[in-house]
Parts: sequence; structure tokens; C-alpha cells
Amino acid sequence: MSEPKHPAKTARHRAKAGASTLAQKIGAATRIGRSRARHLAEQLRGGFHRLEPAKARPYVPRAAFAGLVAAAVITTGFNVASAADEPVGATAAATAVAPDPTRVAQDDQATRNKDRSLSQSSGDATLKESKEKAEKEAREREEAERKEREEAARRWTLPSDAPVSDVYGPRAWRGGEMHAGTDFAADTGQDNKAAYKGTVVQAGWNGGYGISVTIRHPDGQETLYGHNSDVVVSVGDEVETGQTIGHAGSTGDVTGPHLHFEVHIDGAAIDPVPFLREHGVDI
Ligand SMILES: [Zn+2]
Repeated sequence: MSEPKHPAKTARHRAKAGASTLAQKIGAATRIGRSRARHLAEQLRGGFHRLEPAKARPYVPRAAFAGLVAAAVITTGFNVASAADEPVGATAAATAVAPDPTRVAQDDQATRNKDRSLSQSSGDATLKESKEKAEKEAREREEAERKEREEAARRWTLPSDAPVSDVYGPRAWRGGEMHAGTDFAADTGQDNKAAYKGTVVQAGWNGGYGISVTIRHPDGQETLYGHNSDVVVSVGDEVETGQTIGHAGSTGDVTGPHLHFEVHIDGAAIDPVPFLREHGVDI
């Protein structure tokens, strides 16, 4: 439907035509007599006289619909009080000079039902969205925790609480002799700990290393702990990261008690310090 050029004029015209037709319709529908029908229509026209451009649209439907409701009540006793609570749309009134009131009430009810179902489904959508968001966050949290556990499981630890006293590399003071590990200035009896989980592949006297322990780790590296005063594990034992495997001492080729710690990859000793740092150890 195209927009009228003069809304107020059009509305007034419709209202007058509507009132006149309404009187006839009321008369026909109710058989209350022309004068009563006319009187009813006249009363309803009260609303039309107050028409102003800005209010033209809302007033027409309200008044026209009120008339229809009155006619419906008189003729059928149909209870449309609740339907009359809300104004009908302008479009409905413009076309509904005298439509079947029951139909109007039903349409109105249908519209409200539709609105309700729309608002319900929009509420459901919001609920669904927040549920999905919560599930997503839970999944992300689980994933982060799983990664954290995995990283923690891969993390190595210091083999001793004692400070480093000598580093990996050739020793000038011993004629450039290669020092193949890192020394920790541990006192006799201090715990020597598995730097990472694995299987004990050697435990006991081991030449210049004195009493030593060698562990093979799941990734194939081996670690060696030398100069122990005693060991508390046996070949074949599975040990956990940080587990005490022996105690520091001065067995083997030493000048004093300490832990001599080596890391072997494919049988070759590497510098333990950068290796431990790469594996999460603060050293
Ligand atoms: Zn050493």
C-alpha cells in the first residue's frame, strides 16, 4: 500500500466514512434500530473529531476497533475485553471498516501468540548462546590444564639442591682434560635426585665415577650421577622425576664431596646446563 499524501485528511475521510458505514453495520448486525446504531456510531465519532496529523494514525484504529468490539459484544456476547486492551495496527483498521470482530480478535490473539513465541525463541537463542559459550570456555580450560600437565610431565628438575661448583668443558687446571658434566657442591649425604623419570640402567661402582647411578629416560637420553656415598635404587627400577636415587659423597676420582652430573645423548656427553634450561629447569 502506498503512503497517502495527506495522512490527516485521509484519516479523517476514512473515519467519517467508517462511522457512517459503522452505523449501518451495527444496525444490520444487532437489529437495535437505526437511531440507536446511529447514536452508537456518533459516540464513537468523538474520537475522530480529535484527529490531528500526528495522532491521526493511532486514533483511527483505536476508535474503529472499539466500535467493532461494541457491536460484537451486543450481537454475540463474545468476550473480547482482553483483545480490546491493545490497539490494533493502523493497517488493520484502514481495511477493517467492519470486519468480523471474532476474526479481528483471533488475528490479534494470533499476533500476540506469534510475538510471544518470537520472544521465547529469541530467549532460547540467548540461552543457547551462553550455554555454548560456557561449554567452549570449559573446553579451553580443560585443554590449557591438559597442556600444563603435559608440560609439567616433560619438565626436568635439578639433580641436587646444592649450587653448581664446576661446569662442563676442558679443565685448564688439569691439563685441558675434558670435564664431561656439571658439578654440584653437595655435602656428603645430601640427596642426589633423578633429573627426569626413567629406568635405572646402572647402579654401583663405576670406575672414576665411584659409586654412580645411570638412568635411561623415555626420550632416549641418559643421565649419570657420580661420586655417591651410597645409592638407594637398583638396575631395572623405574624412578620418577625428582626421586632420590642416592646420596652425595666423594667416591671415585675426586678432590672432595660433590655430585658429578652428566647428560648423554646417543652415547655422547653434552653440556647439562643448557640442556636442563631447555627442559624447564632454572639453572
Ligand atoms: Zn665432575
